[in-house]
Amino acid sequence: MDKILVLNSGSTSVKFQLFLMDSNTHNVISKGLVDRIGLQGSKLIVKTDDAHDFTLETPIKDHKDAIKVVLDYLLQKHLKNTDELSAVGHRMGHGGEYFDKSVIIDEDVMEKIYDTIPLIPLHGPAFVHGVEAVTSLLPNKMQVATFDSAFHQSMDKSAYLYAIPKEYYKDLRIRRYGFHGTSHNYISHKTEEILGFKGKIISCHLGGGGSICAINNGKSVDTTMGYTPSAGLIMSTRSGDMDPYIPLHIMKTQNKTADEVNQMFNKQSGMFGLTNGHSDMRDIIESAEKGDKDCEFAIEAYVYSLVKTIGAYVAVMGGIDALVFTAGIGENSPLIRQKVCEKLSYLGINLDLDKNNQRPCAEEITTSNSSTKVFVIPANEELMIAEESYELLEMEKQKQKEAV
Ligand code: AMP
Repeated sequence: MDKILVLNSGSTSVKFQLFLMDSNTHNVISKGLVDRIGLQGSKLIVKTDDAHDFTLETPIKDHKDAIKVVLDYLLQKHLKNTDELSAVGHRMGHGGEYFDKSVIIDEDVMEKIYDTIPLIPLHGPAFVHGVEAVTSLLPNKMQVATFDSAFHQSMDKSAYLYAIPKEYYKDLRIRRYGFHGTSHNYISHKTEEILGFKGKIISCHLGGGGSICAINNGKSVDTTMGYTPSAGLIMSTRSGDMDPYIPLHIMKTQNKTADEVNQMFNKQSGMFGLTNGHSDMRDIIESAEKGDKDCEFAIEAYVYSLVKTIGAYVAVMGGIDALVFTAGIGENSPLIRQKVCEKLSYLGINLDLDKNNQRPCAEEITTSNSSTKVFVIPANEELMIAEESYELLEMEKQKQKEAV
């Protein structure tokens, strides 16, 4: 069994999970996060199953401090020494066109990662700080990078190239990259295990951010997010797809800067913009049930954007074997799933209402005679990162054996 630490570094937080695993089983030994890095009230929060989280408030000035706090905690509770850690897996935001799978981090990989930062200027530096912190705290420890965009590198040029002058792709690397790839990849593997074959899958990752991915034979064929995560579906606070002239028109006529317009489309739009400032789907559903017309409409618009995309992806793949819901809304909202599935009855989807309403939700929520299966699968990007790290670790061990 190997112990693998998975880190997800954000601009002011680092989430962690320590896994004990081999090729067949895995166990989460500990998980939690360091929050408010570089801010007042920074703390380590260790999550427990009984909801009695352990919290330690301590000054944490940067990512190195944050990861040191995590390692110190793990050394007190779960590790005799850091040699017990076989590898550290990092969630990385953007792999550009360099990476179509997880890789062991070395100097060449780091150079390429640095080169992708301009593609993800807001979040890219944090991912890199996470790797740099581990390199300095645990020199020579095997580190693995798993990229949110990598799964979508299988898209055909007709799916990823925007119809703008070619030099923008050549010079500025502007193209559809897609995100949530680690989650869609995990859904692809899990669904394949359930179906017993690879098939045509539509994976709906519906959280605060949301994206849908068409997966054929284990490969991403198309996805809704684009050059940035702003594209595609209506999301909690992001508009999703819209006419490219709209931001320009607003900038010109309202005298707004690019940053102000970006802020508006990313933080004040989507469900938040359509309602009176509600971004959480639970609040929106509750308000709609109490008769709030804006919330009622926002739910209909949200469902419409899902149904329209699913229909397009069925057309792109020439059919569908399974539709999968995952992430906060996908896993927890029977209402959204029901509304979507009812509109897709033409695909032979026959929802089992009892299973759909069960809590925790059943894995398969369609009846036995439903010709298209619908599944609810909890998102688990951390496990995917741990599994990919484990696989690379095993390959490395094998290489070393062969070299002896
Ligand atoms: P995530 O980004 O995956 O953490 O998902 C966050 C979203 O999941 C938020 O918009 C929540 O409102 C939504 N969510 C969580 N639980 C529920 C629920 N029971 N019903 C509807 N939406 C939910």
